[in-house]
Amino acid sequence: MIVMSQVAKTYGDIVAVDDVTLNIRKGEFAFLVGRSGAGKSTLIQLLYREERPTKGTIMIDEFNLTRMRRREIPRLRRKVGVVFQDFKLLASKNIYQNIAFALEVTGAPKRFIQRRVPQVLALVGLQGRERAYPDQLSGGEQQRVALARAIVNSPRVILADEPTGNLDRDSSWQMMRIFSELNKRGATVVVATHDWPIVDAMQRRVIELKSGRVIRDDAQGGYSDHVSSDRAISH
Ligand code: ADP
Repeated sequence: MIVMSQVAKTYGDIVAVDDVTLNIRKGEFAFLVGRSGAGKSTLIQLLYREERPTKGTIMIDEFNLTRMRRREIPRLRRKVGVVFQDFKLLASKNIYQNIAFALEVTGAPKRFIQRRVPQVLALVGLQGRERAYPDQLSGGEQQRVALARAIVNSPRVILADEPTGNLDRDSSWQMMRIFSELNKRGATVVVATHDWPIVDAMQRRVIELKSGRVIRDDAQGGYSDHVSSDRAISH
């Protein structure tokens, strides 16, 4: 489903992503880990065509992101939903409008939007909150609205860049349960994160980056081998 071949992204002299070759199958759940500056965000940005690779090719199903023209991007964004650390909700719009907006830009009919928005709000556990404004919600609730907006077009791929970075423990786990549920329903999920307790507990595929390169790719791993051996010692 996601195929990256020898992908590099440089910014002037800075190599953000360096020779990454990765294959993420349909229905997989993968964590992208690594220190700050390792290239996680850049990799996510390449996958929704926010950035173009300097070298290599990226395919998401039939979409060739390397060759994609600007006017084709909206079609890709219907297939790929994205969640960010800072939610990125529109403060002047209520929850309904924030989510509806993602459907309106695809030209969805109003009747469909009216039916679909409550459905996705229910999926993230926020039924009935349509009229609230972002600043009336907790961080965890805002992030769930952001996730509802990301999935309103039923994307096959869900990308998240540090989605729990601004959340407390309970909210972080709530987000992860929703990601797992979406994954169970068939979505391919890729989560860039520093949140090692979550990565350790979930035992999913772990792809570790260092200086833009993949240095580890475990089918069912923890946040880092180093952290697990530290823990083994302290036990
Ligand atoms: P991570 O998400 O793992 O913290 P990033 O992908 O944000 O890592 O960054 C990887 C490297 O690329 C860092 O050295 C960062 O400073 C650099 N970088 C990322 N985006 C840009 C940009 N737009 N311009 C210049 N350098 C960038």
